[in-house]
Amino acid sequence: MATKWVYLFKEGNADMRNLLGGKGANLAEMTNLGLPVPQGFTITTEACTQYYEDGRKINDEIQGQIMEYIAKIEEINGKKFGDKENPLLVSVRSGARASMPGMMDTILNLGLNEDVVEVLAKKSGNPRWAWDCYRRFIQMFSDVVMEVGKKYFEELIDKMKEEKGVTQDVELDADDLKELANQFKAEYKAKIGEDFPSDPKVQLMEAIKAVFRSWDNPRANVYRRDNDIPYSWGTAVNVQPMAFGNMGETSGTGVAFTRDPATGEKKLMGEFLMNAQGEDVVAGVRTPQKIEQLAEVMPEVFEQFKGVCAKLENHYRDMQDMEFTIEDRKLYMLQTRNGKRTAQAALKIACDLVDEGMRTPQEAVAMIDPRNLDTLLHPQFDAKALKAATPMGKGLGASPGAACGKVVFTAEDAKEWGASGEKVVLVRLETSPEDIEGMKAAQGILTVRGGMTSHAAVVARGMGTCCVSGCGDIKMDEANKKFELAGKTFHEGDFISIDGSTGNIYEGIIPTVDATIAGEFGRIMAWADEFRKLKVRTNADTPADAKKARELGAEGIGLCRTEHMFFEADRIAAFREMICADTVEEREEALEKILPYQQGDFEKLYEALEGCPVTIRFLDPPLHEFVPTEEEDIEKLAKAQNKSVEDIKALIDSLHEFNPMMGHRGCRLAVTYPEIAKMQTKAVIRAAINVQKAHADWTVKPEIMIPLVCDIKELKFVKKVVVETADAEIAAAGANLQYEVGTMIEIPRAALTADEIANEADFFCFGTNDLTQMTFGFSRDDAGKFLDAYYDTKIFENDPFAKLDQTGVGKLMETAIKLGKPVNDKLHIGICGEHGGDPSSVEFCHKIGLDYVSCSPFRVPIARLAAAQAAIAESRQ
Ligand code: PEP
Ligand code: MG
Repeated sequence: MATKWVYLFKEGNADMRNLLGGKGANLAEMTNLGLPVPQGFTITTEACTQYYEDGRKINDEIQGQIMEYIAKIEEINGKKFGDKENPLLVSVRSGARASMPGMMDTILNLGLNEDVVEVLAKKSGNPRWAWDCYRRFIQMFSDVVMEVGKKYFEELIDKMKEEKGVTQDVELDADDLKELANQFKAEYKAKIGEDFPSDPKVQLMEAIKAVFRSWDNPRANVYRRDNDIPYSWGTAVNVQPMAFGNMGETSGTGVAFTRDPATGEKKLMGEFLMNAQGEDVVAGVRTPQKIEQLAEVMPEVFEQFKGVCAKLENHYRDMQDMEFTIEDRKLYMLQTRNGKRTAQAALKIACDLVDEGMRTPQEAVAMIDPRNLDTLLHPQFDAKALKAATPMGKGLGASPGAACGKVVFTAEDAKEWGASGEKVVLVRLETSPEDIEGMKAAQGILTVRGGMTSHAAVVARGMGTCCVSGCGDIKMDEANKKFELAGKTFHEGDFISIDGSTGNIYEGIIPTVDATIAGEFGRIMAWADEFRKLKVRTNADTPADAKKARELGAEGIGLCRTEHMFFEADRIAAFREMICADTVEEREEALEKILPYQQGDFEKLYEALEGCPVTIRFLDPPLHEFVPTEEEDIEKLAKAQNKSVEDIKALIDSLHEFNPMMGHRGCRLAVTYPEIAKMQTKAVIRAAINVQKAHADWTVKPEIMIPLVCDIKELKFVKKVVVETADAEIAAAGANLQYEVGTMIEIPRAALTADEIANEADFFCFGTNDLTQMTFGFSRDDAGKFLDAYYDTKIFENDPFAKLDQTGVGKLMETAIKLGKPVNDKLHIGICGEHGGDPSSVEFCHKIGLDYVSCSPFRVPIARLAAAQAAIAESRQ
């Protein structure tokens, strides 16, 4: 049977999201629920994939089916494309499986031409409305389909307003708008070299192509990468008869959430504009009214709308984000979806839904995006400093958090300044999807226009970036990069602070403090801990990091990078002496100086971990990072070593490596200088004995981890040094201490020979940073330089250093487990590369049966939640 590429709304349902996209599936579901939905059709995501496979063409079969379905909706709605009596106008909107707000294209009022506009004007008795639709359509079609910039049309509108001596669009009358439509068409012809298309079917096919094409636009590509949405999914296209919100004062349009998307509070939240079309609300061009005010403007419609909201929320058992239009007092639902929300709101809503009996704790845990938790852990303003500060202005608290930084006025500047380490607040009249990368780079976003559902607000919330929107008091001068607020002028580079919860704007710097987490966060985490099988440890090198990680629920240290313990001035001197030693004696002398530092640090780590496991990774420094480069430091070292400056310089030269990350590091250091491993073992064992003595109720059982092993004989060699030293220390202290010696698996050869290595290792820990580097052959420090080209060419969709490559690196991990486990049934296995805190990688680690993941302290809650979600997903299969 031929593939079905097109579905009427009534042919679908909510379970068909993969095929119909989120919007299409929900329009179908709302239709099935008997809600007032203008009846249209959805072109499937598969048709989008096919469009790309066919070289960006809609093939004849798909075009044929689209034509068939136009006829069907013409019949259902009693209107016809281009008809002189009852013309059909449609919206053409994207809709991927996962919602990507504002990332792809939409065209409204399609089907208008010179004849149709006259019919509409006559029939409605409202020529102003008809011409307004037409000029909007020309503008949108030109912009979205033909890529003629919006600004040319906006300039024409501004010119017209100036000529007429008015300030608002709504003050332009029918003749003005007719004149504008003509000017727009002339502009189109000047730019494109052809007449504006008048055949609705031609318009439709072009619009559908444009939506398919928008799947691959740069902002959509960035959004997908950030949100783990595969390129292969494609977008569906929804073609829906227009309901008109701009027919006069008895019409309007709006968006609403069934709960507050910023706090999660259970109350209807939304905005609407009378005599307007959808994009006016979201674009923040006019500041909308609060949804409650609809009760006064149109009480019966408001009551009906509230009923629809309740029905939808009960049906989906989640907070809904809806778009509606009122056409001449009649309500139409244009969209519903599970609303985007802040992390704080997500936790509250999930807990409330459990308390309201709508969701089980398992479902509550499964509905939270672990990546969002990050924002909860971000800094807030220091309460004292905040109390002392007086806001100089106020906008809407659109996305919580605190931001403090230098003012920049363009997304490009935000990106550039951000890349060079500056903290910036992006101040804009309003944001548009092109600004996404700049918004990402900024600490916070402040806009002059727009409500809680404006682009800036929605996108910032999704990203977890602090945002204050709609501060109308700001007098903006984007061209000259300055703005005025509260009688003061702010230039590029001036400091401001903004509070995304209250909407307050402050002059200067307000210090921030770490967030504290409690309440709903604790409840969700407790549930997550009940469901997950994976343990979650942390990568921590300092007692402070370890303490933070414990507070965030870490159950041990999975990686302590001991080389990171030597960056302080007094320590690095001793470390350099050790590196630059000529003889074993000299090296041992330097190591003697290092030992007390190490032992002290380890004691503090064991104390912080309160008897939980601590994995100490033996030295793994690329040596060049530690040798002095400044003349002064070189002289100091020469003096300490009793050597000439020239000698030290020669030694530094001899340490130079072409590929230091593949050079003299890891266990290779312990092989060449066993005395280093000896010193570290002494420090680990002595610290453990001391802490065990002080806390009889804890089990202090050090796990010594040998890095960068590629051959069993290497491990054997280093392990012998460790075991001999450790046993001698334990015997000398008369202690009874257990310890383990394990290895990192971070070289492909180690994974491939894991059956040999498991004979000598008490545990494996996947160092997926190096394992990725060596499996791909990409330098982990330099790959960024070419990865952008890989994203652009779709060779890669993600950075393999951030999201585990399950196909290749994952296969090596699975191989190592399969080979290692049967040889050593006590072998415990974890991961401590950056991937240990990435949700999709955590899920993979669960699937392949790891015992734990280890990640940086602030990612511990993310890993806990992701681990629980992996277990829940598995139990549902
Ligand atoms: C790794 O390689 O994954 C690892 C954790 O070690 P490092 O990043 O210190 O090389
Ligand atoms: Mg490594």
